[in-house]
Amino acid sequence: CHVDAPLSVGATAALPETAAGHLVRVLRLGVGDAVVLFNGDGQDYDARLVAVGKRGAEAEVLGARALANESPLAITLAQGVARGEKMDLVLQKGTELGVAAFAPINTERTEVKLDAERAEKRLAHWRGVLVAACEQSGRARVPALASPVGLAHWAGGAHAGLKLMLDPEGELTLAALPATEAVTLVVGPEGGLSERDLATLRAAGFKGLRLGPRILRTETAGLAAIAALQSRLGD
Ligand code: SAM
Repeated sequence: CHVDAPLSVGATAALPETAAGHLVRVLRLGVGDAVVLFNGDGQDYDARLVAVGKRGAEAEVLGARALANESPLAITLAQGVARGEKMDLVLQKGTELGVAAFAPINTERTEVKLDAERAEKRLAHWRGVLVAACEQSGRARVPALASPVGLAHWAGGAHAGLKLMLDPEGELTLAALPATEAVTLVVGPEGGLSERDLATLRAAGFKGLRLGPRILRTETAGLAAIAALQSRLGD
């Protein structure tokens, strides 16, 4: 159960209304039952329900366990903003596959341009997708999520490790990648990366990575690359 607050052993934590409803109405838990809490800090907290009501629940934290299921390869996925359900899929499955950070980027061919208000709403929705995927996959560290920014602006920033952009005509293959502890991977949106996007990224030091002889949909390409990168260089 995710709690958006610091947790410490011996203290009592208020559980959010939706999570409490799930524990009580769906799982039929009551006072005295054990629950596991996490707040994204890399630990699981064993706790016991001490109060259950219509509007929420409270749990006493009994102990903390550091989890060791983060990949030794820190992958940042810079996903060209795609349509709603595709972005949700990439965030959900990318979290399961161990992505450390997501950076949604607006590329030349991004179809969904978000104004500030819609971007805020999307971000809140995306954070919810990441938290749910962590709960489901047993991760206690919620991947970092940046606000959507333009590709040129993003490319000009600092990037960790090997800088790769997925490009069906890229010069690199997975087999040729050197050992590394971090990868920043750019994936084009539905319409792909334009020549201008590719040139901007190339000027910022990104190298093209090709996955194979077939063109993959944007959500397939990123997820397939992440699975392959974890298998070759991570965990
Ligand atoms: N017609 C588009 C093009 O020419 O780029 C296809 C775009 S594809 C649907 C979306 C993104 O997935 C691409 O921008 C690229 O980042 C990635 N991608 C798809 N297939 C790939 C492959 N075989 N190798 C590397 N990247 C691929």
